[in-house]
Amino acid sequence: MTVRTRFAPSPTGELHLGNARIAVLNWLYARHCGGQFILRIEDTDVDRNLPGSEAEIMETLRRLGIDWDEGPDSGGDRGPYRQSERTALYHEYAEQLLGAGKAFRCYCSTEELEAKKEAAIARGDRPVYDGRCRHLSPDGEQRFRKQGIAPAIRFVVPADQAIVNDVVRGTITFDSGEFGDFVILKSDGNPTYNFAVVVDDTSMAISHVIRGVGHLANTPRQVMIYHALDVEPPTFVHVPHVLGPDGSALSKRHGARSLRDYLDGGYHPDALVNYLSLLSWSSPSGDEVLPPERLIAEIDLARLGASDVRLDPGKLEWLSGEYIRRMSLEELAERLAEHLGSASYPDLEDHRVRIAAAVQERITTFASASRLLPQFYPPDPMSWTPQALEALKAPSVSRTLQAVAEALEAIEDWTGEAAVNAVRAAGKQAGTKGRELFMPVRAAVTGSTEGPELVDIFEIQGRETSLRVIREAQASADA
Ligand code: GLU
Repeated sequence: MTVRTRFAPSPTGELHLGNARIAVLNWLYARHCGGQFILRIEDTDVDRNLPGSEAEIMETLRRLGIDWDEGPDSGGDRGPYRQSERTALYHEYAEQLLGAGKAFRCYCSTEELEAKKEAAIARGDRPVYDGRCRHLSPDGEQRFRKQGIAPAIRFVVPADQAIVNDVVRGTITFDSGEFGDFVILKSDGNPTYNFAVVVDDTSMAISHVIRGVGHLANTPRQVMIYHALDVEPPTFVHVPHVLGPDGSALSKRHGARSLRDYLDGGYHPDALVNYLSLLSWSSPSGDEVLPPERLIAEIDLARLGASDVRLDPGKLEWLSGEYIRRMSLEELAERLAEHLGSASYPDLEDHRVRIAAAVQERITTFASASRLLPQFYPPDPMSWTPQALEALKAPSVSRTLQAVAEALEAIEDWTGEAAVNAVRAAGKQAGTKGRELFMPVRAAVTGSTEGPELVDIFEIQGRETSLRVIREAQASADA
């Protein structure tokens, strides 16, 4: 059997962690099996569609490195890949069910249905459709038609139980009395979600439906439709909810940002894919840093967990840092340039690789390098952190900085290495070394007590800037 999975977002907004995780799992599994991954846009809920959202979703998937074999942009043999373009197909399948006596036309008005629902609730009964139009005589139907009433089409729910087999949750049995004959095509001709999804998954030959557990309650209705169409249902895989770090439903309150925000914020894309994948399963090796090739090789539906998972922003950030450390300097420099913008640092371009090397061990996102840039490009006038000011307070500092400044001035060919050697020699002269020497120097040239190696700082600052900030620090130490 060819494995075919799909990601079926509704174009109602940006991708967030919850639905991006579903895309990742479907993609990984299809790639693992050498199968196909399909992108389908579920845009039948016209009121909720957001213009631009489809393009936004595709762009975000691409930035994550997720590609699809068939989709609204790339086409494929089983398209179209937007539900709004598949109406004729839904009608065809509905006709098939009508012909087989497995669906019927319903002429009940919304008002009637509402009134019946309220009455049922008041009686303490289940508010399901009462079956009024299921057995309409041809004459009865004729009468409604003459009145010009557009019918909805309802599915004949069989009396036996609906059984859902799920890879994560096992076999679940539903009492079909819960459902009532439900609508598959609305009177405006649009399909309902449960019907469209079955028609699409069937006609697109989807073998595995991997989606959030929120859809489990829909699955028995879908299974009944598959049986009515004489089609074997796909393998269902319902993955648990992702919760906020405090265990409550994930929301904006938890800083649940869209994937685009994470990407724009400079998280390494592979770290995002890795993290999203680990929200659902773990590698038997115990390794957590799993680049896409390894995820594809190792993904195993049998290892999907059944309990809800909590978001761990710290872990995502750690992973991003791990991926940044594995990058080549050229590649990192390129990403940094994209995220930092060179406007405020005119010669950033000349130093990009050196800066990449200097920050690589110290950042967790590309954007977080901006925190370190002022150390290479100190402000004028200089400013110091409270810890840096503290480090400049020791009594010998002014004398040390004076010796350092003189040594730096005397350097013939300025390089970071030459500058550090000069600092060391000046220290010897002034009778200071190690931390006692380098901490005030660091505080003076960077305004901070921690940061990239001084050799890189001196190299990029250049003599003039280094001397300027040392003089300022001296003045502040003397003050
Ligand atoms: N359009 C549905 C959603 O965004 C997908 C449903 C499914 O995967 O069956 O939740």
